[in-house]
Amino acid sequence: MPVDRILPDDVSKELIDLTRRIGAAELLPRAAAAEASHEFPAQAFATIGAAGLLGLPFPEQYGGAQLPYEVYLQVLEELAGAWFAVALGVSVHTLSVLPLWKHGTDEQRARWLPEMAGGRQLGAFMLSEAEAGSDVASLRATAVRDGDHYVLNGAKAWVSHAGVADFYTAMVRTGEAGPRGISCFLLPAGASGIEVLAPERKMGLNASPTCAVNLNDVRVPADHLIGAEGMGMTVALGALTAGRLGIAACATGLAQAALDYAVAYAKSREQFGKPIIAHQGLAFLLADMAAGVGASRATYLDAARRHDLGRDVTAEAAIAKLTATDTAMRVTTDAVQVLGGAGYTMDHPVERYLREAKVTQIFEGTNQIQRLIISRTL
Ligand SMILES: Cc1cc2nc3c(=O)[nH]c(=O)nc-3n(C[C@H](O)[C@H](O)[C@H](O)COP(=O)(O)OP(=O)(O)OC[C@H]3O[C@@H](n4cnc5c(N)ncnc54)[C@H](O)[C@@H]3O)c2cc1C
Repeated sequence: MPVDRILPDDVSKELIDLTRRIGAAELLPRAAAAEASHEFPAQAFATIGAAGLLGLPFPEQYGGAQLPYEVYLQVLEELAGAWFAVALGVSVHTLSVLPLWKHGTDEQRARWLPEMAGGRQLGAFMLSEAEAGSDVASLRATAVRDGDHYVLNGAKAWVSHAGVADFYTAMVRTGEAGPRGISCFLLPAGASGIEVLAPERKMGLNASPTCAVNLNDVRVPADHLIGAEGMGMTVALGALTAGRLGIAACATGLAQAALDYAVAYAKSREQFGKPIIAHQGLAFLLADMAAGVGASRATYLDAARRHDLGRDVTAEAAIAKLTATDTAMRVTTDAVQVLGGAGYTMDHPVERYLREAKVTQIFEGTNQIQRLIISRTL
């Protein structure tokens, strides 16, 4: 049974139906094989881009659908249930476009946003470095002004979509040490001097390449600076607050998929003369999983609705990310338990769901950092 969603209008309902159809026809059948062979789903991104799913929150004026986060995030959740890496890719793309949308000039928006919101260009977000993970304000890559250009140098790390993206939204240092010396740049992927290193060998999410990227004298026109010099940390943190809502929705979709699979298995598998779901000890485990998924959805939707009303959701987005990703880890682990030995094999998707869930507790700010963000607001 599909999730019974509360949506604001008929357009949103049609969009969810469209997403489900694309998920069932294009994503679900291909996910396991592509994850096993580490194949980036270029065709899937072309399909969802053409369907408008890469531009849902962006203004209509620039080729987006101008939908509220309440709807955009439910689309992400549906995509994640079909193929987590694709949903995550949509979320990363949105994260990469947000700085331009929120802080670009009208001229910059008119020049670049339509291709990005229209799904013809895929983005990557370059913030982390090997020595600047949780402590991103200590990042060291630099941009130095040279006449009408900036020249970028340094080593960025953990870049999702590196090597397959069309543009990189990069945070580098233009000034003093600390958060006030950081600036945001838009780098076309074809710019000379961008060197993408070999993909990280990860425990999951293998259809989504994650690479270190060296910036070797990358020269971009000065109008590729997004926002003013020194605003980069504000730009990045604003994008990450919204981005965390995306991660929460993706984690909820993954947990829902694990729950659905576990319930179906528990109804068909018999031990002691009856379906294992008829054993209360296991039924209660499934009940706890369902409660967790429902709570995750309610938490991210509450944050989304506040965001749509223009409220500051710094704490709510961190709460949603923390709640949904810790829940996804627990629910996917319990789904393996429900399947018993079968759950520990690659004949079923739940072991992959478990490996995918783990990273949601780590990226876009680890869950320790989410607790830091929440505790600072108390
Ligand atoms: C698959 C994947 C994709 C990614 N994609 C991107 C991307 O597209 N763009 C990008 O910029 N980055 C990306 N990242 C990087 C990710 O955001 C970082 O890995 C994350 O922020 C943590 O940084 P770190 O790995 O250096 O861990 P560290 O910062 O070294 O943390 C190690 C441990 O210490 C804990 N810790 C650190 N500081 C504190 C503190 N003050 N209090 C309590 N605990 C603390 C952390 O929670 C963690 O448990 C990606 C990472 C992965 C794994």
